[in-house]
Amino acid sequence: MIKIKGLSKVYSSEEGQVVALKNVNFEIKSGDIFGIIGPSGAGKSSFIRCLNLLEEPTEGQVIVNGQDLTKLNTKELRQARKKIGMIFQGFNLLQSRTVADNVAFPLELAGVSKSDIKNKVNELLDLVGLADKANNYPAQLSGGQQQRVGVARALANEPKLLLCDEATSSLDPETTDSILDLLKDINEKLGITIVLITHEMEVIKQICDRVAVLEKGYIIEEGETIQVFTDP
Ligand code: ADP
Ligand code: ADP
Repeated sequence: MIKIKGLSKVYSSEEGQVVALKNVNFEIKSGDIFGIIGPSGAGKSSFIRCLNLLEEPTEGQVIVNGQDLTKLNTKELRQARKKIGMIFQGFNLLQSRTVADNVAFPLELAGVSKSDIKNKVNELLDLVGLADKANNYPAQLSGGQQQRVGVARALANEPKLLLCDEATSSLDPETTDSILDLLKDINEKLGITIVLITHEMEVIKQICDRVAVLEKGYIIEEGETIQVFTDP
């Protein structure tokens, strides 16, 4: 589903250059939950943002479903991005909109009709267990509930791929577990491929089929989670 070839990311500014990713190569199979782990500054955030071109790779190819995203024009990229959902550490919800209106937002942008939006939003809120919070505002919800809204919103355009940027890093262990269960559910029931970045080994161990270890911009190890992290 995803092929990364010779991916490099260099940030240039007046202070000089920062090399965040160096010649990264690997593949992610359709249906997998794939984790990227590494310490702060390893390049995880740069990597996941290159997967939907929120960050433009300096070199290399990002091939998603046979399409090299780095070769697309603006319109084609907008289309391709609809099929890639993303959730964030800070949830990134619109504070002035209700839960239902946050989930509706990507559907409005896609020009979906009002009645279809209503049905889809109800279905998504059911899926994440927040049907009773539809008319609440994000500030009235717990962190875990806000991330559930994030998940519902990310799934609105029925993506094949969900990117998770430290999605549980601001949550307590119990809430983290419940969000990881939800992600596992989505992966199994809807067949959505999930790519997540984290600095927490437990997250990888709990849900990832495969893992890549990133250090200073290099992949230093990659394989099945049980093989990469065998308990002593
Ligand atoms: P991680 O997510 O693993 O903490 P990042 O991808 O955020 O790693 O950062 C990798 C390196 O790139 C770090 O040295 C960071 O300071 C640098 N970096 C990230 N974003 C930028 C940017 N927009 N401009 C300059 N340097 C950046
Ligand atoms: P997170 O850990 O939540 O992913 P980061 O601290 O890595 O967030 O980055 C937050 C934002 O700041 C990103 O847009 C990233 O590109 C940018 N950024 C990170 N490091 C640097 C840096 N050294 N210089 C400039 N921008 C940076």
